[in-house]
Amino acid sequence: MARTTALLPEVKKHFGDLKNYIGGEWKTSSATEWLDDTNPATGQGIARVPLSTKEDVNEAVQSALAAWDAWRETTPLARARYLFTLRDLMERNAEDLSRVVVQDMGKTIDEARGEVRRAIENVEVAAGIPSLMMGYNLEDGAGEGIDEEVLYQPLGVFAGISPFNFPIMVQFWFLPYAVATGNCWIAKPSEQDPIPMQLVMDLVHRAGFPAGVVNLVHGAHGTVEAILDHPDVQGVSFVGSSPVAKLVYAKAAAAGKRAQCGGGAKNLLVVMPDAKLDKAIHNMIASCYGCAGERCLAGSVVVGVGEVHEDLSRKFGAAAAKIKVGYGLDESVEMGPVISNAHRERVLDFVDRGVEEGAKVALDGRGIKVSGYPGSFVGPTVLDAVRPDMAVISEEVFGPVVSLVDFESLDQAIETINRSPYGNAASIYTSSGKAARQFRHRVRAGNIGVNIGLASPMAYFPFGGMKDSFFGDLHPQGRDAIRFFTESKVVVTRWF
Ligand code: NAD
Repeated sequence: MARTTALLPEVKKHFGDLKNYIGGEWKTSSATEWLDDTNPATGQGIARVPLSTKEDVNEAVQSALAAWDAWRETTPLARARYLFTLRDLMERNAEDLSRVVVQDMGKTIDEARGEVRRAIENVEVAAGIPSLMMGYNLEDGAGEGIDEEVLYQPLGVFAGISPFNFPIMVQFWFLPYAVATGNCWIAKPSEQDPIPMQLVMDLVHRAGFPAGVVNLVHGAHGTVEAILDHPDVQGVSFVGSSPVAKLVYAKAAAAGKRAQCGGGAKNLLVVMPDAKLDKAIHNMIASCYGCAGERCLAGSVVVGVGEVHEDLSRKFGAAAAKIKVGYGLDESVEMGPVISNAHRERVLDFVDRGVEEGAKVALDGRGIKVSGYPGSFVGPTVLDAVRPDMAVISEEVFGPVVSLVDFESLDQAIETINRSPYGNAASIYTSSGKAARQFRHRVRAGNIGVNIGLASPMAYFPFGGMKDSFFGDLHPQGRDAIRFFTESKVVVTRWF
């Protein structure tokens, strides 16, 4: 597609009062409270989102339950065919889906296209369900003439609760696997950018899924509580901040539900003296400032080990200063706004705290103005001379703010990473196989990058972290997801 500085067209100026999608129909929520959903670049309202009630949730669960009897009896191959149709519809509508992600979430159009691509890839992987869901058997496994086999079966109704930063992709870490395995699904997207999933549900509808197999309920924490309290919800797939992930996990587990809950992150990128510095800088800039730093895999602390720090600090600051900030529908823009004014204030507060604690502002994005766009912008920011005891290095900022730290050894870097309560991702830049091997062996994080600042697992690999970055046993995506959404049954057969 040709690059242009002209603005790509918005999908729509205003999406009106959003509806829930329940039992194959669009339904007005019984909510008495609604939130305004704004475009974070323009600051304008683009929809109103209902805070759906427990009655709405119950209606969705009942529709899903009613659909489940027939859906679980639908053969795996027939279920996969619905996914093939959905995949084709998503492919044909990928550009509209991407643009609406830009309008509602704020990332750039290329980042949004990447998000939609990742969602489609998960549909493609889940469509392999006839092989993915196979059990195993052993002839004479329980004695002579007695065979033993394992079957995997769906459990019923699952719900997916997702964060604002990937409004489509995160739902697709779960949804395709849940329905492919024969479960029914209730999506609860973030109240901060609910429109993209509204468009996705139109495609689900057009793909002809039987009514009730896939549902959508808008809302915030009250809606999540209604989902967790519902006795007929078998499990929840959650992604969001660590405190909420922990809470959802504890509540789900106490009610005997399955739960997989992704939490927050604080990812260190470690640059060794033998790293290919220019290539590393280019790669780290994309990791740290892509999606305005609102990515659970984003690098947010850059560690220079030994003599590399001075060069690294100068080159990193210079590269960050060149990032073009603006409305993501302009294809020449490299970084969009953060999600909201409230979040901008939180990010700026971290910078102020860093400065109070003694950090040096090497690049200041606090006062940025983007001509024509009064939205929630924070310019690329670099804090230098950051010490391990400062809040900005240990707490999740989730914005375009990078802390530069100077360590003497790889050991010190690994110890700092392992002391963090988070364990989502960490990367090393080096030409030494020995250092890379040591790093990947010793670091406690779910996603390790070697000369890559964004160690993102493809759809056929599990996506999950360690420590406070993930609560649960089985991660989203791929084979782990198949196991999460099924229970196993052992059958022993004596052949008379
Ligand atoms: P959030 O925790 O505020 O919200 C996530 C979801 O939980 C939303 O749907 C929201 O409506 C709901 N929610 C919020 N408060 C709740 C409560 N008290 N009880 C029940 N439900 C509640 O997160 P966010 O700000 O939307 O997303 C950003 C966070 O998500 C960051 O911490 C980021 O690191 C994390 N994240 C993690 C991963 C991962 O794979 N681990 C991926 C993407 C984002």
